[in-house]
Amino acid sequence: MSRTRQQNVTAAQWSANGGALGSPDLTVPGNQVFGANVFSTDVQRARLPKHVFKALQASLAEGKALDTALADSVAQAMKGWALERGATHYTHWFQPLTGMTAEKHDSFYGPTGDGNALAEFSGKELIQGEPDASSFPTGGIRATFEARGYTAWDPTSPAFILENPNGALLCIPTAFVSWTGEALDTKIPLLRSMDALSKSAVHALGLLGDSEASRVFTTVGPEQEYFLIDEQYYYERPDLITTGRTLFGAKPPKGHELDEHYFGSIPERILACMMETERELAKLGVPVKTRHNEVAPNQYELAPIFENSNVSCDHQQLTMQLLQNIARRYGLVCLLHEKPFAGVNGSGKHNNWSMGTDTGVNLLEPGETPSENLQFLFFCTAVVAAVNKHQALLRASVANIGQDHRLGANEAPPAIISIFLGGELEKVFDAIASGEAAAASDNGFLGLGTPALPPLPLHGGDRNRTSPFAFTGNKFEFRMLGSSSSLGLPNTVLNTIAAEAIDELAAALESKLGGGASLEEAVIAAVRESYTANSQVVFGGDNYAEEWHAEAAERGLHNLPNTPDALPWFVADSTIEVMGTYGVLSERELESRFEVAVEQYGTKVNIEAETAASIARTMLLPASVRHLNELLASGREGLIDEFAPLVAEFHAAIVALEQANEDPGLEGMELAQYFRDTVLTAMTDVREVADKLEKLVADDLWPLPKYAEVLFIK
Ligand code: ADP
Ligand code: MG
Repeated sequence: MSRTRQQNVTAAQWSANGGALGSPDLTVPGNQVFGANVFSTDVQRARLPKHVFKALQASLAEGKALDTALADSVAQAMKGWALERGATHYTHWFQPLTGMTAEKHDSFYGPTGDGNALAEFSGKELIQGEPDASSFPTGGIRATFEARGYTAWDPTSPAFILENPNGALLCIPTAFVSWTGEALDTKIPLLRSMDALSKSAVHALGLLGDSEASRVFTTVGPEQEYFLIDEQYYYERPDLITTGRTLFGAKPPKGHELDEHYFGSIPERILACMMETERELAKLGVPVKTRHNEVAPNQYELAPIFENSNVSCDHQQLTMQLLQNIARRYGLVCLLHEKPFAGVNGSGKHNNWSMGTDTGVNLLEPGETPSENLQFLFFCTAVVAAVNKHQALLRASVANIGQDHRLGANEAPPAIISIFLGGELEKVFDAIASGEAAAASDNGFLGLGTPALPPLPLHGGDRNRTSPFAFTGNKFEFRMLGSSSSLGLPNTVLNTIAAEAIDELAAALESKLGGGASLEEAVIAAVRESYTANSQVVFGGDNYAEEWHAEAAERGLHNLPNTPDALPWFVADSTIEVMGTYGVLSERELESRFEVAVEQYGTKVNIEAETAASIARTMLLPASVRHLNELLASGREGLIDEFAPLVAEFHAAIVALEQANEDPGLEGMELAQYFRDTVLTAMTDVREVADKLEKLVADDLWPLPKYAEVLFIK
């Protein structure tokens, strides 16, 4: 049964059903929900025996493993707390290589043998789980017949309770590892990379004269973009249901040309949904800070305050999950796909990244004293070097099929990595590189010795929204991540390559200090050498411009426009070396990630292609034929001549796609390339005709909601 526009519009009516939320009196302490469902430090202090609490805190501060003898005590306290909050089950919550989270629920209750049941949860169950893991992708690390994988408690990310209208679930963040000790998830490498960076940064800080810091944490604040559309339209579009994006849809008469949506007032239904999402996230301790409309119609953004990479990564997964769950309470569906609508801006996730000491110093803060400036220059230079050396790996770390429709379109960074430093900072580096900057001036303040240089500290005043990797005052913003992406892999890469660059720069510094240079002279000299060698990656212009692509090629920067191009960098020599040296991912673990990513790419293109063929054949072609029949019945030759050839063209394109969808008998990368070159092209051909037909076929015959409705009815 096809719908008419009017029915479609009626379907989008809503009434507030978030009534449960209302507006509580926030001056009443009980109404403050932040962290209410988190087994936080405060809860631990209140519930754990003193010596256990102290031991747990100490092991967290030092980043060491907890004495298993204490685990029983922690488990008891956790169980008591969870039962009070209505939890009937617990789960080891982990992040396998699917890029999503996984959970298998276990009841707290076990039979006692006399017909009764007892709530049970021991230290053993807290620390280790053994899910039947045979169906998770492992890229050949673990054959299914030896399906053993373990989950291991990560005490550095607090346990939390997920509420459901009919009960609650205690979630224990865990790592997922094979019985041979290989990481099968995204958390283990991330934790390893944080550790590696901490060691390198603490060592460098020692050389720079900071002997107080004993640990350095990487911090991440992700900005999440997403679409909210009426659920009615979602259900009427098999492409959205199956693939997360529209495989058909003509450009609507109105897009975002009027720039009226960005930062516009938020529609009531959307705001109600956002508020409930934020409240639920607050209960889980996710510090959501900003919300606003994004550029595309029906597109929005949410950003939390930054946290350490591991916790931020876990919280980011929860954010994506809750955005999707809670939208449904408002008759909405949250789309996290990178490019749900062709021709309309896609969604990304900006990864704001920095490094901070346990003494509270942000290493990418230019600071106000000469020594802070030196420290800043040192770490900033290391980041430039790291990004230049491992451009292609960074690009690979954000590759997925959705990204291929976004990166390089004139809305998102190109597939070329470059760094934006900002005019002021670039001047400082250029002056150092050309030897214009005196090591120290009269008052010891870097840069004041030459008129060309503004004094640090710098304020990240200027912005460049087109840059994939931009310095924004006291952190770098890696803008290339896709909206559906986990933070795990990109941050693992960032942390590890930064650790390597810090070590290389520290070695240069050490040798200059050994040669008798003062600290300032030595830092400036080391910075000069490194910056000169790596400044090819620094670019302050328009990354969307054609000329940049040509210039980047001249500079020798990598341009990896699609996923099959980017993925081989997971197993490139430079990757194997840096990941191996820092103990983050072994060659085998890298190979497994490569294999999983290649396979996922192919599988997803295949699903899209079969969905496209099916919609075209069973929905759009019949609608077109019905329309043709009406034209034929009307006898209007002009109309028939205009329309009939398109139907024939459409049929031919569908047949070609169906043929492309047949098994080509290829494997691995060759199969991925086949999908990219042959199948995606056949899909595009079908779509091209379909989108023309959409504009010609009688509106009441067209079976898919159109962009004008999906994007504009709120
Ligand atoms: P904009 O849209 O201008 O880039 P937002 O306020 O939306 O800025 O987002 C900035 C993000 O950067 C926030 O998530 C914020 O917490 C994060 N951030 C700020 N300082 C740091 C830091 N030192 N390390 C990591 N992230 C940071
Ligand atoms: Mg931003």
